[in-house]
Amino acid sequence: MTAKLLKGKEIREEILAEIKAEVDEIKEEHGVVPGLVTILIGEDPASVSYVTAKIKTANSLGFKEVQVNKPDTISEEELLALVDKYNKDDTVHGVLVQLPLPEHIDEKKVITAIDPDKDVDGFHPINMGRLVIGGSEVKFLPSTPAGIQEMIKRAGVKTEGAEAVVVGRSNIVGKPIAIMLMQKADGANATVSVIHTRTRDMAFHCKRADILIVAAGVPGLVKPEWIKPGACVIDVGVNRVGYKISKKTGKKVALLKGDVDFEAAQEIAGWITPVPGGVGPMTITMLMRNTLNSLKYKLGIS
Ligand code: NAP
Repeated sequence: MTAKLLKGKEIREEILAEIKAEVDEIKEEHGVVPGLVTILIGEDPASVSYVTAKIKTANSLGFKEVQVNKPDTISEEELLALVDKYNKDDTVHGVLVQLPLPEHIDEKKVITAIDPDKDVDGFHPINMGRLVIGGSEVKFLPSTPAGIQEMIKRAGVKTEGAEAVVVGRSNIVGKPIAIMLMQKADGANATVSVIHTRTRDMAFHCKRADILIVAAGVPGLVKPEWIKPGACVIDVGVNRVGYKISKKTGKKVALLKGDVDFEAAQEIAGWITPVPGGVGPMTITMLMRNTLNSLKYKLGIS
């Protein structure tokens, strides 16, 4: 069997077109556009590149985009004051603080300071709580898990009654996607197991997965012989394993690998995400959808 490739880049284009159409319609009918603030502290190259991509996408969709870049010497009080300013700004529907923050700033305090109704990253404890309750309680799903679920749904993979195995239990990927897949809802209703470093027999669990989601950050962790024939394999891992020279630019770029041995796994799985170009492109897309939804909640048109 050769697996169908789930290419986030292609799915992204479909969803962005849907978002753009809604933004245009709302602008026409209500005279407003979604407003997104991105707050970047310091100059960490990975953070700069994520924020740049978010800004570019927001602009391409016709959002109002406000960029705030501050040096990493900013105090916690100053950052909290900035968050408060945008919490109170009626033209802003999403407040995004790029993580990680410098060590002298309490990340939890900053996340909790964001208005839960503008928390488009979905990391605020109130939004995590809403996610656990499920149904109409949910406002913002964290972007990476939301992207994973969207990919599975659009591929037509049956989740109801499926054995779903999630490798990793982080707050940003493993835990939320496990909860989302167990909900009594469309694109869910799966029987979910969560694997971590204290799991006794990881191979045993992976082998019975109809849907295998791997978010461990360990290159090649999942062996091809652990994959059930025909399974849907979602590889969230992004691991820098070296460098290569880009054919396009001639520059040295990071060589990325996932947590699954892709070459061998694609001969066994029914569906598989490549790394890069799989889950990655979905994350920013779902962040944009959350920002649009935030405006829609405010207008009462969701
Ligand atoms: P994380 O916070 O480091 O958590 C990793 C999880 O994997 C932990 O729960 C850990 O278990 C588990 N784990 C690690 N090694 C394991 C092993 N050998 N066996 C079983 N479980 C193991 O990671 P994260 O933030 O969720 O990110 C995971 C990966 O996804 C990273 O490569 C990251 O770069 C990538 N990522 C990609 C996107 C995207 O594409 N948009 C977004 C987010 C993350 P313990 O809890 O027991 O330590």
